Formats: sequence, structure tokens, C-alpha cells
Amino acid sequence: MESDMYGMRFATALIHGGVHEDGGTGSVNVPIYQTSTYAQENIGGTPKWEYSRTGNPTRAALESLIADLEEGTAGFAFASGLAAETAVLSLFESGDHILLSENVYGGTFRLMDKVFKHFGITFSLADTTNPEAFAAAFTPQTKAILIESPANPLLTVTDIEATAKIAHAHGAMVVVDNTFMTPYLQRPLDLGADIVLHSATKYLGGHSDLVAGLVVVKDAALAERLAFIQNSTGGVLAPFDSFLLIRGIRTLAVRMDRHTENAEKIARHLAAHPAVKKVYYPGLETAQGHDVQKKQAKNGGAMVSFELAPDRDIRKFFPALRVVTLAESLGGVESLVCHPATMTHAAIPKETREAVGITDGLIRLSVGIEDADDLIADIDWAIEGSEGK
Ligand SMILES: *Cc1c(COP(=O)(O)O)cnc(C)c1O
Repeated sequence: MESDMYGMRFATALIHGGVHEDGGTGSVNVPIYQTSTYAQENIGGTPKWEYSRTGNPTRAALESLIADLEEGTAGFAFASGLAAETAVLSLFESGDHILLSENVYGGTFRLMDKVFKHFGITFSLADTTNPEAFAAAFTPQTKAILIESPANPLLTVTDIEATAKIAHAHGAMVVVDNTFMTPYLQRPLDLGADIVLHSATKYLGGHSDLVAGLVVVKDAALAERLAFIQNSTGGVLAPFDSFLLIRGIRTLAVRMDRHTENAEKIARHLAAHPAVKKVYYPGLETAQGHDVQKKQAKNGGAMVSFELAPDRDIRKFFPALRVVTLAESLGGVESLVCHPATMTHAAIPKETREAVGITDGLIRLSVGIEDADDLIADIDWAIEGSEGK
């Protein structure tokens, strides 16, 4: 998957991609343009910078960097992943129908179900892991399909290229939430997607120190509409957070290499553990969608979900951990663990949740970049402590 960005390979583009507006100082970092407005020469001109909701040089550097990395033509930075999704969903109108993949992030489901539905935009859930089967879910009103691959939290894999072909044949746009993979591991626009979005709060930021969202597109007309929506709805990322996010992105390749190396070790260890009932990790040969994952992404990523054997009590598991932290979120250098049923996916009704396999016994691990042996020892210790109901 080596790409060639203006002659740069990916790891080089991470450091040198995007635009550097350094005001002529030679500063090797993009300065934080902590300003709301810009002096204009005279009335009636078309100044490059006029107001920081519309455009800010620090944010613009980030937007151009992520556009390069995702092989798009335009990037947009927002105050959170959900603000980015809100902007994307604002492309649609009353009467439009949107398909969501079954295992989407809980907040995405809530945004559709509790906010956009009130504006007359309808939606339904589809099992996108089988492209032929979900083709039946399209209606004449379906304007877009929003997928995550691998999807949260069962790490189910959707064939992005096959999905894009089917969606386009139905006249629908393909939106891919690429948060779990990042452009280092998977580039949806190259696979036929129309819009890529990120919760940059996760791997792109990488240090659990900011909340941000990004959108990237290839098509110029779509870019123009999103620029209009970004400026009109105003959920933009602040200059300081844009700076922090650029700083995080610089080390994406080295972090992801360690994240995924650790995740593979842990997934294999858990798969062989007698007190573990099931492991969900697309990097395992036995996992759902492993072949598709191999085809469309560099590796299985760094999220591992698993279920303990029925004789284990998960309420004893979490407090026993000493290195891994029980917390919402993922993608930071530190390992985090969560209980999807009561945390990330609590917004999804229990019946819907269980129907798609998010049981009360499911544990989701965001594998950090610590020493893998320390992580394995910690998890083993907590599994041991979880014996007996
Ligand atoms: C966290 C997350 C979001 C929401 O992003 P925020 O930055 O928390 O608003 C959306 N999609 C996925 C896959 C996520 O993990």
C-alpha cells in the first residue's frame, strides 16, 4: 500500500505533507494563529483570510495535510468527530434515506436516531459485511451509506470497494468512518468511497489530549458544499487543537506500527487462553472478513475485542487491571479498555445491541504502545481475578 504523494511515501508525507504557513520565519512547525480576524487592505477585496470560522492558517495546514494523507483534494477540520459527522449529514435533506452499517459507533446511531431523524432524514441499519445481501436494503430515497470497517466494537469487516460499487449503482454516496484504521492502514477514497471521516480524537491525535474530527473528499463540487456547510454551521476546530493534531499526526506511522504489533500479540495470546470464549480481531486468520481486511488494509489494526468464558465475572475483571485503564475512547498511546454495553454503545437499545452481538460480556481493548509483555501480564492477571460469579 505504499502511496506516492507528490513523490513522497506515506511516512514522509506525515512529516512534510500539507501546507506550511510560517509567515516567512522559516519556523519548522506551523504556528498557532490564535486570531479570530484579519486586517483587510480596503473594502471590496477578496482577502485570503477574513474570519477564523471561515478559514484559519493553522487549521488550513491540518486540513491540507489530512487531504494529502487520505489521497483526497480537500480536508475539513471540526471540533469533534460528531461535529464532522453532523456536517456530512447536513448534505442531506428531508425525505432522504441513509443506510448505516449495523455496528456503527453508538454516537453515530444516536445522531441519526435522535437528531437528524427529527429533520425528516430517515435511516435503517444494514449488515454490510455481506455486500450482496445488503443491496436489498437500498430504497429509491437512499442517498448515502455510512460504514465503518472494521466496525465498532466487534471489528467486523466490510468490503469497501464492493460496497462502493453497489451504492453507486443505486445512486448513493459512500461515507467511510476511517477512525479505527487511519490513512496509514487503509485509504477508503482509493477504494471508491466519496467521503472519509475521522474522529481524530483517536489515533490521529494519538495522545488522548484533544477532541477533533476530520472530513476528506476528492470531488470538487462536494468539497465546495462541505466548505459552505463548515462555515455555515461553524463547528470548526480551534487553532491550538489544530496544532496539537498536526503534532500527533507526525508520528502516526511509528505509533501505528507499535500499536498493531502489540495488538497482534495480544489477540493471539487471548485466542489461546482457556478462559477466553471468543476473540474479535480482523488480523487473525480465523476472523470474519480476514481476507477482505488483508486486501483493503495494511493489517488488522490495534483494536481487539473479546468475551470471557461464562464462568468469569466481568465486574471483577475491570478493577483488577493495573496497567490498562478503564475509560471511554481509544487510539491513544496508553492502553484503554471499555465495556461497550454500558459505555460506548449504551445509546443503542439493548435488543438492537444484542441482536448485532454486542453482549454484556464483551470487552473492547484499545491496545497502546506500552511493552506488549506488560500488557499481557496485566490482562492475564485480571482474567485470573475474574473467576467465579
Ligand atoms: C469516537 C468515535 C466517533 C465520535 O468522535 P468524537 O471525536 O468523540 O466526537 C465517531 N466514530 C468512531 C468510530 C469513533 O470511535
